[in-house]
Amino acid sequence: MSVVPFVDFKARVSAVRGELEAAVGRVLDSGWFILGREGEAFERELASACGAQDAVGVASGTEAIQLALSAVGVGAGDEVVTSPLTAAFTGLAILAAGGRPVFADVDPATLNVAPEAVARAVTPRTKALLPVHLYGHPADLDPLLQIARDHGLPLVEDACQAHGARYKGRVVGALSGIGALSFYPTKNLGALGDAGAVLVNDPALAVRLRRTRNGGQTDRYHHAEPGINSRLDEMQAAVLRVGLRHLERGNARRRELAAIYRRELANVGGLVLPVEQPYARSNHHLFVVRHPRRDALMAGLEERGIASLIHYPVPLHLQGAFAALGGRRGDFPVAEKAAGEIVSLPLYPEMTDAQALVVAAAVRELAAREA
Ligand SMILES: *Cc1c(COP(=O)(O)O)cnc(C)c1O
Repeated sequence: MSVVPFVDFKARVSAVRGELEAAVGRVLDSGWFILGREGEAFERELASACGAQDAVGVASGTEAIQLALSAVGVGAGDEVVTSPLTAAFTGLAILAAGGRPVFADVDPATLNVAPEAVARAVTPRTKALLPVHLYGHPADLDPLLQIARDHGLPLVEDACQAHGARYKGRVVGALSGIGALSFYPTKNLGALGDAGAVLVNDPALAVRLRRTRNGGQTDRYHHAEPGINSRLDEMQAAVLRVGLRHLERGNARRRELAAIYRRELANVGGLVLPVEQPYARSNHHLFVVRHPRRDALMAGLEERGIASLIHYPVPLHLQGAFAALGGRRGDFPVAEKAAGEIVSLPLYPEMTDAQALVVAAAVRELAAREA
């Protein structure tokens, strides 16, 4: 029995159970389950919350990235520059769009893709840039957008971890014009299943995305172009409308808990805390610290009933799924070193201050032992 789990879905559901039951009840009463009123309302509400012109609901974050890349013109053999330190699904979405992932090493402070490395990775075959707002801390978008402009390339934001995070005061996700969100249950805005969305500012791209998520259909049974089946169902849309109403409050609570961790873990020898850059307001999707004896730290936490995870233990260029790209150990030294030192501590809105203090005390004690 864990003292502090990594996330607590039962607590999350029970906090809004009445609202969820009303939302599900509305869908049951409507007799309409795919692409309907709930989905349309959610798309409007989501776009407005994210400062985007439009949002297109899809079946997962992975497919949101895939469809966004296809919409901006990525096709067979086109190179897409992204981070090697991300969910493998970022790279898999590039493959699904027919593209070829090209990795660029990360910034040692934020672990987001480093703009200088992205500039070096661009070739005549590059078709798009795909930075990830890792752990909910925005990537440094202005220099990345400058690189995109210099080379006439679209930039798609992988905002799958960054719901409500801000870059220079503005919500990320469509600051470049197009970006992808995931509503996997663990995300700051989570469905009761799989779901995702593309945020988009260009009406023509929005029309295209509404086609391609639905098999490329223009009218029923008339398929103007190849698409996929990545529709958002009404049940998840109704559930997500509830979650969206509580997103800012949840993010604010995450910020309080992160502040407790920062206060309690300041000046612990060997421990590196995440930094929030002056341009960024993180949504604290994950609270990731670094320690040279990370594995021993995690083992000690587990003994005390405290959950922890690694996001992510194997950089993409060293994953079997991307072996055909020919990546080798040593290609991206900053990402590789980080992958051996990072550990994500529990942080979720329903966590109590007392639980955060228990985690912090354990980390302090273990770090002192491993120093
Ligand atoms: C969760 C996630 C994805 C994939 O989203 P799914 O909804 O699980 O398909 C892609 N990229 C990043 C950075 C993610 O965190």
